[in-house]
Amino acid sequence: MPARMLDGAAVARDIKTELQPRVTAFTARRGRPPGLGIVLVGDDPASGTYVRNKLKSAGETGLRADLERLPATASLHELLAVVARLNASDVHDAILVQSPLPAAMGPTAEQQVFDAIDPAKDVDGFHPANVGRLVQNRPSLVPCTPLGIIELLERSHVPMAGARAVVIGRSDIVGKPIAVLLLHRHATVTICHSRTRDLDRVAAEADILVAAIGRAGFVTPAFVKPGATVMDVGINRVEDRSVAASLYPEGSRRLADFDRRGSILVGDVHPSVAEVAGALTPVPGGIGPLTIALLLANTLRAAEARG
Ligand code: NDP
Repeated sequence: MPARMLDGAAVARDIKTELQPRVTAFTARRGRPPGLGIVLVGDDPASGTYVRNKLKSAGETGLRADLERLPATASLHELLAVVARLNASDVHDAILVQSPLPAAMGPTAEQQVFDAIDPAKDVDGFHPANVGRLVQNRPSLVPCTPLGIIELLERSHVPMAGARAVVIGRSDIVGKPIAVLLLHRHATVTICHSRTRDLDRVAAEADILVAAIGRAGFVTPAFVKPGATVMDVGINRVEDRSVAASLYPEGSRRLADFDRRGSILVGDVHPSVAEVAGALTPVPGGIGPLTIALLLANTLRAAEARG
């Protein structure tokens, strides 16, 4: 039986609807809406698309969202000055600096920027103080994508307590925080990465498998225990038709999309996993929309915590 598709887009809509009365109440109480400042450096097309979607969703939910743009040639010093201005702003409760930063800013630029954001406005939860609080299970602002995964698991009634969970990927943005969140929900968690031996066999022990790798169709049915819940975090743009054709059969709707547009977005999980898994998130329409919904929720949370 094909896997149940977990509709992240529908859950994201529900979350946004649930936020509305709180946004209205905050706005009435404070005489201004909760405010999010987004900083975009350079002109990476994918980052531009993500930021546009975030701005649009924030506006639809009644939040104030301002975009601060810096050219790709901007210095780290200039970027830190924008962060300092947003830290001091009365109308901005939350700050997001879109990753990745231009390579020319240096290998430690992202960490320096995350360190500089006021932890109370750190809507992505990347500041070391917020990471520490998350690890200690007294979270304040938690990274949006992992939070979205948990929301989808909870709302889809996937049991976490006692479950074997395997996370492939150990980034600070997805892999590590989702592993910690699952641990705090009493899953038995294994974190895998590029040096993991027998990765497919380890993954196939999971009741809940999270793929956050960044490789199109990497997770094949050999990685998946029959009936497992598979959360596909990957967003990979495929521009090579032979890669697209290795994922989707000739005549399929996705391959027709590829032929029309010259590229498609695919996850880290091979579509044939749907024949083995019990439940699976689609790409697009799975974790991506939830990341944005949880960004809005975190903005409101930061605003409410500021009083
Ligand atoms: P990173 O590149 O920071 O991390 C990738 C992780 O995957 C690393 O830990 C790496 O291991 C591991 N990995 C890479 N290759 C292999 C391999 N062959 N076998 C096992 N592990 C491997 O990526 P992110 O965590 O930032 O993102 C992961 C994916 O999720 C990307 O496709 C990204 O676009 C997507 N994403 C989606 C979001 C959404 O809203 N849906 C939000 C954020 C990200 P090692 O540490 O050993 O190098």
